[in-house]
Amino acid sequence: MIVSAALVVTAAVVGVCGPALLRRVLRARMPAPLRFVAWILLLGSMIVAGSGAVAAAFGPGHEVARRLVAWLRLDTLRHHEVLHLDEVVGVSGALLAVTAAGAFALASIRLHRHQLRLHDRHFAELSMVCRARAGVWWLPLEEKLAYSIAGKPDLVVLSEGLAKDLSEPELAAVVDHERSHLRGRHHRLVGLAHAVSAALPFVPLARQSPEFVAAAVELSADAAAGRRHGPAIVSAALDRMHPVRSAATALRLEHLARSHGNAMTGILALATAALLPVSMAATLIVAGAWTATPALLHA
Ligand SMILES: [Zn+2]
Repeated sequence: MIVSAALVVTAAVVGVCGPALLRRVLRARMPAPLRFVAWILLLGSMIVAGSGAVAAAFGPGHEVARRLVAWLRLDTLRHHEVLHLDEVVGVSGALLAVTAAGAFALASIRLHRHQLRLHDRHFAELSMVCRARAGVWWLPLEEKLAYSIAGKPDLVVLSEGLAKDLSEPELAAVVDHERSHLRGRHHRLVGLAHAVSAALPFVPLARQSPEFVAAAVELSADAAAGRRHGPAIVSAALDRMHPVRSAATALRLEHLARSHGNAMTGILALATAALLPVSMAATLIVAGAWTATPALLHA
């Protein structure tokens, strides 16, 4: 019971407080892949803690706890009450896990099909209006556009309007940014985040995942383009493409401006994401056992 309750509380705290930590991870300077590591760590620990609570309520963990209680000569423990609470956690948790797994699988299939349709439609339409030069499809549009779509073949699309407005080095940086999305399989990470959000829409960490991943993949692609062309060139291209700055663009420019700064806050945010769930579950279990044992001894 103590283990189940501690794991449920841990999963709930990570699920509710995770978005605040992810916001820090987005602002902090750190190697781009570590942002995804922090996200996976938080998401993974929430899922492991939740699954662990169900397992502890129903599985071998419960048997271990029962034997431990017997070993401590707490045979007078009111087993009916304890088992009842364990069963509530176990049954509701198992139902939630099955429902979430089903929703995740459905959303993944739907998103994969959507990605295939999107690619095929763009490939067919691009083939009708323009041709690829050096792996880039140049759309005859005055609008400033740049995007990429993963598939066979991967598509990197820029508009001719963009070519008129940006210098050669800036255009090369934009192309590299888009290719970095494709190399990094960013569309899969975005799809995973949307599937997680569809599976657990009432959990803030899951609900915020698409927004976090969308921002993190842009920072990652900017960093890759910046390494090759210099952050100043990427910033200049970004400035020309988005003269009206959104919060997302402002964050990207901020990172490009301080790409040589101190990475300590990033390391701290990552360490918190890694250690928070484990230390919290351990503390709750120890504290719960410590509090409950005297009461049980006199039961
Ligand atoms: Zn991008």
